[in-house]
Amino acid sequence: MLSTMQDVPLLVTRILRHGMTIHGKSQVTTWTGEAEPHRRSFAEIGARATRLAGALRDELGVQQDDRVATLMWNNAEHVEAYFAIPSMGAVLHTLNLRLPPEQLVFIVNHAADRVVLVNGTLLPLLAPLLPHLPTIEHVVVTGIGDRSVLDGANVRVHEYEELLEGRSDSYDWPELDERQAAAMCYTSGTTGDPKGVVYSHRSLYLHSMQVNMAESMGLTDKDTTLVVVPQFHVNAWGLPHATFMTGINMLMPDRFLQPAPLAEMIEREKPSHAAAVPTIWQGLLAEVTANPRDLTSMKQVTIGGAACPPSLMEAYDKLGVRVCHAWGMTETSPLGTMAHPPAGLSAEEEWPYRITQGRFPAGVEARLVGPGGDLLPWDGASAGELEVRGNWIASAYYGGASGEPFTPEDKFSADGWLKTGDVGVISPDGYLTLTDRAKDVIKSGGEWISSVELENALMAHPEVAEAAVVAVPDEKWGERPLATVVLKEGATVDYTGLREFLSQSIAKWQLPERWTIIAAVPKTSVGKFDKKVIRQQYADGALD
Ligand code: ADP
Repeated sequence: MLSTMQDVPLLVTRILRHGMTIHGKSQVTTWTGEAEPHRRSFAEIGARATRLAGALRDELGVQQDDRVATLMWNNAEHVEAYFAIPSMGAVLHTLNLRLPPEQLVFIVNHAADRVVLVNGTLLPLLAPLLPHLPTIEHVVVTGIGDRSVLDGANVRVHEYEELLEGRSDSYDWPELDERQAAAMCYTSGTTGDPKGVVYSHRSLYLHSMQVNMAESMGLTDKDTTLVVVPQFHVNAWGLPHATFMTGINMLMPDRFLQPAPLAEMIEREKPSHAAAVPTIWQGLLAEVTANPRDLTSMKQVTIGGAACPPSLMEAYDKLGVRVCHAWGMTETSPLGTMAHPPAGLSAEEEWPYRITQGRFPAGVEARLVGPGGDLLPWDGASAGELEVRGNWIASAYYGGASGEPFTPEDKFSADGWLKTGDVGVISPDGYLTLTDRAKDVIKSGGEWISSVELENALMAHPEVAEAAVVAVPDEKWGERPLATVVLKEGATVDYTGLREFLSQSIAKWQLPERWTIIAAVPKTSVGKFDKKVIRQQYADGALD
């Protein structure tokens, strides 16, 4: 029998209406690099999002299901786009501004974006691509930046503020099907072409609720979150939507993502929370070590997107900032786990839980699959590939304007679970510890060596700034680890010293024989270690 409950669709529009009224006074603060940042209330953001939707429909002819892209930094206008586009029934497509041009071209064409909203400072990136983007009809420019680079482009160019000027503050928002597409994001295509994940209104709504639960980020309208994670990196981990649900204030860095301005922003604006990948926190740590700043307003920072070295967590603990480790993927919206320890433990007892990837929330089911396809027990020892399913987990990739969604065998199981490509163990109480990505694990003489474990151990050395370990071919063992290390300024340690240091925590047979000192670890477009590039450099003989 069916329930007697109302069936109200879970729509981004409802989050927008709620945020702009109930939490109308909460604020989005955007860093400008000037004496004063720019501040806009949720009420104003909501009114402007409404005007933007009107302009997109009436001036640009945007219709339901049209893809509207953004090539933007984290700022107030980008939040407006986050709400206007899905709420009117169109699809927000956030473009990763750090992708190589050929990948951006592939993605825009695959999604068949009709409109792109762009920050003026990013026009030099967009303009040369336009001749290769036949589906783009309109470019809407916001903020500072020389518009003349668009002269001669075969598109209609609009000024964002002019589009909003004098427009109505009301919009007849459609009552959409909650399963309809609201936003899309492409994986970075480490293997093959980038693949599009299309989020529904329902998945974004439920994901936002989870982000706001105390077992996840658990923030309220008394908090301010510094959203360093880009809005093009899996919807800024769900923060822009989640903040409108509970009135969390947002501090947006715009293009000021270097360690020094980030440190200044934190000291001046005193956010209580922040979210970013580990490399951002490594950079900030080096900055505040050289030029001390008060970071203690940040009661909690969420670090995810790549394994957070325990040494980094310890360093922030010492600065009075508590790190919470999180795991997720583009395909998981991204919240998959967060590492809050169970109740009632001392700080010392909490530590082994904090350095795991964390626990699964109720909306995410998990299983571990062994090499032969067998399901493995949650005993903290049996290692297998993590598979997940749930309310905000992808079931397929976008097939393009004319194609059907597709489900590659290496990404989806026959019974519909997402194969994460991550290898790890789960403890009996449900804490996930990832040992590696399947493609990064070092297969040495029939045994597996975790590159992440070696990296974490190396980065705990006081003279090591960063370390990335990759598998390289070895005649005798099949593969062996190559350690690439970035030393801190003035460091005196040599390979022998590093090997000795490692041998305190790592089994002897796992210790690397091959070492190289490098100036910086290559990074992906979202700031993770790019091991593909290191492997290629080694193969090319570029690393000695
Ligand atoms: P990309 O493939 O470009 O890195 P994603 O952002 O979707 O795109 O990356 C997801 C992957 O990042 C995960 O499958 C996992 O390998 C890695 N990852 C994310 N968070 C963590 C974490 N806390 N610890 C270890 N690995 C992580």
